[in-house]
Amino acid sequence: MSHPLIIQRVKGPFYCEYEGYSPAQRKKAQVEKMRYLVEKVLPNSPFYRERLPLGRIHCDSDYPFADCPIVSANDLRPHISPQGRDLLTTDDPGHIVFQSGGTTGVPKTSLFTYAEMEMINECNARGFYASGLKKSDRVANLWAVGSLYMTFIHMHRIFSEYGCMTFPFSNHTPADFVGTVAKMFQVNCFSGITSVVLNTLRKVDEVQPGSIKIEKVYFGGEHIYEADRIELRDRFGAQQVLAPGYGTVDSWYLGYQCGHCTNGIFHAFDDMVHLEVLHEETQKHCKPDEVGILHATVLERFLMPIVRFKVGDKARMLSRRCDCGRTTPLFELLGRGDDMLRIGYDSLDYKTMQELIVKFKKSNGSLQMEKKRKDGKDLLILRLETQNPQSDHDDMTRDFIELLLKERPSLREFISKGTVWPVTVEWWKPGTLPQNPKTGKLIRVIDSIS
Ligand SMILES: [Zn+2]
Repeated sequence: MSHPLIIQRVKGPFYCEYEGYSPAQRKKAQVEKMRYLVEKVLPNSPFYRERLPLGRIHCDSDYPFADCPIVSANDLRPHISPQGRDLLTTDDPGHIVFQSGGTTGVPKTSLFTYAEMEMINECNARGFYASGLKKSDRVANLWAVGSLYMTFIHMHRIFSEYGCMTFPFSNHTPADFVGTVAKMFQVNCFSGITSVVLNTLRKVDEVQPGSIKIEKVYFGGEHIYEADRIELRDRFGAQQVLAPGYGTVDSWYLGYQCGHCTNGIFHAFDDMVHLEVLHEETQKHCKPDEVGILHATVLERFLMPIVRFKVGDKARMLSRRCDCGRTTPLFELLGRGDDMLRIGYDSLDYKTMQELIVKFKKSNGSLQMEKKRKDGKDLLILRLETQNPQSDHDDMTRDFIELLLKERPSLREFISKGTVWPVTVEWWKPGTLPQNPKTGKLIRVIDSIS
């Protein structure tokens, strides 16, 4: 028997019945999954067995994981293969190794079993259905492929399951070829990392202005700015610009947009992920509508469980419900936390930049990172303090950028493809970088557009 297409599997107004459940029904479903995770899965992970107070996790309480330590991607790294294995619950080799973050040397990995990938596809099915993908759509798939990236593979799967016409370009196809095919086949929908979609469309339009018009953009991987939305609408005709899934490869899909979601607003996948918004300083739970840092406990990852993971994005849970009728909670994303910048779809954190400075040796370690938006593209400005005379600065800039791009091949690729601006480096005298006037702390990261 053939597998029914996604659209044929839909019963009721939403892709999944859960999306219309009452709060009590949702809570029951969540508690069941949490119990399974806490009782059957986590005890098999030596890492969590040692660190978590498993007996004190009360799945039916409001904050079941409140007593558990918070972990970052860097905390988990030594416990995941290839560096270690004690976070894993089994030695079964049947899983896929994806990379998280574009670094050289030992890859940062995130492991998913085939069954978990099926659940990832469920997220996508729910997200694409909510954001209005139709079987009649003709979709250019521009997601990242190769180098252990996850997105292209499962996006292709979901377009196939939708039964729509799909064009597997990936992020590697030259824009002129994408443009030629898109015009020939009247492709009406582009899907991919925001900057890749935008730049592909821009390049096609530069050669033949007005030649490419589309109806829908399904983006992800990075924030979309209001100016980009306006450009997609006014220059390329896109009436619908939505993110069918927001998430990280280190955690899971965390949210999805429906046709009623404005910029930055998402429905939570709260049957698959337990989300917590915590105060940046105190790590106490924020009230609804209060801004904090997003943390995730994934209820669907059994090979490499993820408990109280610091996603790092700023967010707030909204107290209102969505007009679409889905009862799943809404949250608003408000950019990265204070220690990280998203350049293109590379996340550059302050700690990584500090490690580079240690290698570089000619700066005192005071650094300010700023992200600006210029002509619709990201620009990274690095301000470093140095004792060296001005006559050295040009050489130092060249050497530091070389070091940075060697460590961050994805950033190098974005720059060489023109997706982001080349990095700017400024040299400041020791003690002169701007400080917070109240605390005297160095202003480390500025996200000028969020
Ligand atoms: Zn909605």
